[in-house]
Amino acid sequence: MRTYSMRHIARTDGQTRISVDFVLHEADGVSGPAANWAKGATPGDEIVLIAPKNGAASGGIEFNHGDAERIVLLGDETAAPAIARILEDLAGQNSDTPCTAYIEVPTGDDQLLIEGAPHHGITWLPREGALRGSMLAPALGWDVSDEARISVASPENADDDLVWETPAYSGSGEQVSTQAPTAGTYYWIAGESGVVKQLRRFLVNEIGVDRSQVAFMGYWREGVAMKG
Ligand SMILES: Cc1cc2nc3c(=O)[nH]c(=O)nc-3n(C[C@H](O)[C@H](O)[C@H](O)COP(=O)(O)OP(=O)(O)OC[C@H]3O[C@@H](n4cnc5c(N)ncnc54)[C@H](O)[C@@H]3O)c2cc1C
Repeated sequence: MRTYSMRHIARTDGQTRISVDFVLHEADGVSGPAANWAKGATPGDEIVLIAPKNGAASGGIEFNHGDAERIVLLGDETAAPAIARILEDLAGQNSDTPCTAYIEVPTGDDQLLIEGAPHHGITWLPREGALRGSMLAPALGWDVSDEARISVASPENADDDLVWETPAYSGSGEQVSTQAPTAGTYYWIAGESGVVKQLRRFLVNEIGVDRSQVAFMGYWREGVAMKG
């Protein structure tokens, strides 16, 4: 079992069509059951899908900007579908909250079409061989002249658990607030777990951003297959 974002849902003539964008990560020399399935999928192939129930509380949706005055979204290629969905939903809700997205992808060809609102800033950051995560840090204003600081943890040292710290839930058991942000900037950050952890350390420990204003989500782990 693997976790993916619902990029788009269309309901017509009693049928529901769900679109999912898969990263085919074999280019990195490793693949997995999900990427392999997507690579070989043909029309008519079946999968079992567990999805949030429309109208049910929470259940898989980790974006809650509350009354934040500004939204900043950061993510890698695995988070690009979720970021695209968030921006298009905000545009569909006529939200006038300023929103800026920074999306790090392997190459310029990996940019997707996102139909956000005119006041949404969307910056694609092609790595083109640079260190994973190294394009996201400067987007937060972090000077990564010391590149080693942003490199992901080595697989040997990796804990299997993905970092998952949102305003409403803490994977490490920290005390969390029950309230969504009421002002300020809301940060939503997802991608490779080691990179997300480093961005968290910078934002919370070095910059002092309030823990209740940020959602940090490890979507996958370098060198570690997901369980399931
Ligand atoms: C809430 C959530 C939403 C997600 N949404 C999406 C989405 O919309 N699209 C998407 O593509 N992914 C998404 N992911 C990430 C996806 O679940 C992982 O990448 C997953 O590990 C892929 O499973 P797999 O079977 O291909 O590889 P696994 O069996 O889990 O891993 C096998 C090997 O591949 C490596 N690997 C896994 N993913 C990548 C990658 N992206 N790049 C390089 N190496 C990798 C692992 O480190 C491991 O060494 C999401 C994750 C979460 C938690």
